[in-house]
Amino acid sequence: MAGTSGSPAEGAPPGDASDTSSADNAKTTKWRMDLLLIFGMVLIACLFLVIRHVSRESAIKNEKSDSLVVTAEVNGKVWGSWSLDENHVIEIDTDYGHNELTIRDGAAYMTDADCPDKYCMQMGKAMRTGDNIVCLPHKLVIGIASPPASDAGGSSDLDIDTVAR
Ligand SMILES: [Zn+2]
Repeated sequence: MAGTSGSPAEGAPPGDASDTSSADNAKTTKWRMDLLLIFGMVLIACLFLVIRHVSRESAIKNEKSDSLVVTAEVNGKVWGSWSLDENHVIEIDTDYGHNELTIRDGAAYMTDADCPDKYCMQMGKAMRTGDNIVCLPHKLVIGIASPPASDAGGSSDLDIDTVAR
């Protein structure tokens, strides 16, 4: 009787031990699950950050190219203006000479000129507010500006004046 009553009591500790070991197992698997979950969350967070960064960058780009205008001034007077996000090839023929301005893929650049120094053709691409291309012999200034509607700040005009000096 004592043995039978003892056997359950004896059986209890192994049962307990197995219980704790299984609980340990459950704990470690839970730990692993937690780690996996945390890892996954970090990964997702990183992904989100990257996506947000990229989409924000492209949004800024779109905003810029949408709102910018290419202007040509000859001898201080506006000769013409064109949207920077449309492709154009503009022949600028004035009393001072001939220039060919190309606007393509959100950038404006001089593709031909009959000025003696050809400096304007080496000035590269203008694509941001304040950028400009100057052809001194032809008194020609190509500038990038915000559209007149949003000219309240007037800072873009100031930029052009200071750079074109
Ligand atoms: Zn030139």
